[in-house]
Amino acid sequence: MLAYKWDNSKMYNTRLKKYLPGGVHYNFRLPWEETPIHFVRGKDSRLWDMDGNEYLDFYAKFGAMIVGHNNQRYNEELKKWIGRAMAVNHTDLDTEVCELIIKHIPSAEMVCFGLSGTEMVQNALRLARAYTGKNRFIRFEGNYHGNADNIMGGRAIDRKRPVPKDYPGDYKGTLGRAKDILETQSFILPWNDLETLEEVVTTYADEICAIITEPISINGGGIMPQAGYLEKMRALCDEHNIVLIFDEIITGFRVGLGGGQALLNIKPDLTTLGKAMGGGGLPVSALVGKAEIMKLYESKKVIHAGTFNGYPLGLAAVKATLEILGEDNGSCYGRMAENAAQIYEIFKSAAKAVDLPLVIQGPLTCASYHCQEYEAKSPREISYDTQFKDIVINSSLAKYGILVSSISRMYLNITLNADDIEFFRERVSPALAEAKQIIDDTFK
Ligand code: PMP
Repeated sequence: MLAYKWDNSKMYNTRLKKYLPGGVHYNFRLPWEETPIHFVRGKDSRLWDMDGNEYLDFYAKFGAMIVGHNNQRYNEELKKWIGRAMAVNHTDLDTEVCELIIKHIPSAEMVCFGLSGTEMVQNALRLARAYTGKNRFIRFEGNYHGNADNIMGGRAIDRKRPVPKDYPGDYKGTLGRAKDILETQSFILPWNDLETLEEVVTTYADEICAIITEPISINGGGIMPQAGYLEKMRALCDEHNIVLIFDEIITGFRVGLGGGQALLNIKPDLTTLGKAMGGGGLPVSALVGKAEIMKLYESKKVIHAGTFNGYPLGLAAVKATLEILGEDNGSCYGRMAENAAQIYEIFKSAAKAVDLPLVIQGPLTCASYHCQEYEAKSPREISYDTQFKDIVINSSLAKYGILVSSISRMYLNITLNADDIEFFRERVSPALAEAKQIIDDTFK
């Protein structure tokens, strides 16, 4: 099978570049240039581009697309709401959608809405500061919580007082940050390291308003928390008046209806939700949590604002998505997991056949592959070389019609079927043969 050509996409993107910086809608400084593929159509797990190439889509708009492209039931629900009152603050949909979310997310007692994950994380931090009267929050290496100045990238040199700083080569580093914002607002710690967490929390408890973590480090490479880690985090927060924030922008409604917290049986104080909650077609995010904290909004002691908060079409997207995912007690998650297991077996044996190391780790519906021999137990165990190799594999897969999200995440959707698995089987071998060649040439 021949690798795809992107002549039309490239030509179109050249025109676009005159107006849109870099011709792309986001620009992390990853060590490779993504070819912007311009798509024209999607159905279920498949996409088609301007050159007529067909793809299996595990990119899934960074994990948001979970109901499949062009899902009729989802579309019908949205159409219904397009025909009603779209540009208003409140509708007769609000309560129902809050109840749906609260039904599924174990720690959710109250809910509020926004558009992006970034803003919900900032709202959660503001609540935590207001609630505790403290300023600094703890975050973790490898995790990602949006593109705001105070929370993106950086690393700590001093392990005793782990204040993050910008460093050269950080692909989440950026010029133009507000001065000292990284240094003054957080500590950054290695993830899945219980000892360091305990040491830092007990030493600086008076400064710390919140601990924010992905309950499963998807951005860190698909890493499960070690036994007792989140339990200890929960206990430390209780002991020291610290708000525990689970960032479930990815894991919420993706690893199961109850997100990572149901899977792992830990209740945070606040949870951010986004991406898959809206099915993939519309931007909508939520902050949920303990009524005692959320009521700081009710008293107006803390501001939560936004022109499009709770917009009817966004809430309709949540309703449609949660009804589709919740059908038959969420049986779609079991089906997705079965398909995933088959796909990952095919992937691993294709890698073995061309002599490339490959591990696949993390929850089945949003696993990551890594071109190394061993499973990573912390984001630190995925080296730059591995990340580079993972990116080479990602690019080669795209050339043969398999789209994987950055850097090596595979987001499945509920429409995935046996045909898709066959499509994967046919394409993965030539893609990995090509990747192997590039990796060997680079590391010889
Ligand atoms: N939190 C996590 C865990 C994420 O993965 C992301 C996005 N990748 C965000 C927050 C930010 O969400 P958004 O891009 O919608 O602002």
